Amino acid sequence: MSSAAWRGRQGREGPQARLPSAGANYAANRARRPSGDARLRYHGGVSVRDVLIIGAGPSGLAAAIASRHHGLDYLVVEQGTLVDAIARFPLNMVFFTTPELLEIGGVPLTTPYEKPTRAEALRYYRKVADTFQLQVAMHERVLALEREGEGDDGVFVVSTRTRLGVERVREARAVVLAMGYYDRPNRLGVPGEDLPHVSHYYSEPHPHYRRRVLVVGGKNSACEAALDLYRNGAHVTLVHRGATLGDSVKYWVRPDVENRIKEGSITAHFETRVVEIRPTSVVVETAGESHDIAADDVLLLTGYRADPAFLRAAGVQLDADTLIPRHDPVTFETNVPNLFVAGGQLAGVRTGTIFIENGRFHGEQIAKALAERLGRVDV
Ligand SMILES: Cc1cc2nc3c(=O)[nH]c(=O)nc-3n(C[C@H](O)[C@H](O)[C@H](O)COP(=O)(O)OP(=O)(O)OC[C@H]3O[C@@H](n4cnc5c(N)ncnc54)[C@H](O)[C@@H]3O)c2cc1C
Repeated sequence: MSSAAWRGRQGREGPQARLPSAGANYAANRARRPSGDARLRYHGGVSVRDVLIIGAGPSGLAAAIASRHHGLDYLVVEQGTLVDAIARFPLNMVFFTTPELLEIGGVPLTTPYEKPTRAEALRYYRKVADTFQLQVAMHERVLALEREGEGDDGVFVVSTRTRLGVERVREARAVVLAMGYYDRPNRLGVPGEDLPHVSHYYSEPHPHYRRRVLVVGGKNSACEAALDLYRNGAHVTLVHRGATLGDSVKYWVRPDVENRIKEGSITAHFETRVVEIRPTSVVVETAGESHDIAADDVLLLTGYRADPAFLRAAGVQLDADTLIPRHDPVTFETNVPNLFVAGGQLAGVRTGTIFIENGRFHGEQIAKALAERLGRVDV
């Protein structure tokens, strides 16, 4: 659908659509920066922001803080809740990163533990959003974006749909894609992958109590899920196509899972691949021989990747092998002028190269470049 057709049928973001501030008392003294309303521009009666940031993960929030600092009129649009990917991580997850490496905007993350838990990270990013009174439209999914006009007059027309089905068009002079990769599991492409007892995500052990659970994968997610399941009363079989567990498995997880395999508490099949998933079993192949493993639940924990289709539809060129978007390494601008990428979205299939640890710095470089281009001054 053309953007003109969209505009004819949908609500557009006007001045009345501005969000209320996050309303945090904690932040009152620290966040005295203007919200950017004074700088609103209009295009056909519709407000045109300086920058729309898609995704309220750590990278998107860092980009929002930097945009604010550099005097840009920004809005973050998030399909779920704040840091939605982290909210969907396993409930009992502990980060492999020490707290200071997860920090954004200079707000300290304090924890009594060596490594923060998922719950602590959620609390921390809520505190950051409140501290800077970040403007985040939540439960609003970006469906598509297209660019109208050329050069400095060009704007991005971004179509969105809220959880309740309200469709909107938002406009901005620049867009930051900070959508991460957690939405796109690496699918095995085998029959039965979409059966109801199969999932590409692991949340918690209790629903699997006394069930036969087949876990596919050999990295952190698979190893941690296997241990958590075993310790909470599930019968666990681990299937991995490699000969050994992945090199990146956390140093405190590896011996634990290896010892559980040695003692027979967790059954493991290495150099084995899944051929088909059936309602009560999984067909696997080891050294050319296929056999059945009984399973009530199947967890395919084989990693994730950024959505290449969305990037391509936006006109971004991707490396054929790695699917990494073409971008300037300093400004993170893609081959599409004023379209930037940040965080996990930059990783292509190499998700092991971008973490919160490094993705949190991209937003500052983007906002700085954009502010210079638009002639904004720091506030
Ligand atoms: C289990 C697990 C454990 C990890 N542990 C660590 C760790 O210990 N340390 C570390 O540094 N890294 C860790 N990582 C990696 C880290 O989580 C990612 O690098 C980080 O979340 C990337 O941040 P991001 O903001 O780029 O993307 P995300 O955190 O994925 O955020 C992207 C956001 O964009 C939103 N979004 C997506 N599509 C749309 C759309 N169309 N419209 C609107 N919003 C959209 C999503 O809902 C999400 O909130 C871990 C990852 C996993 C999976």
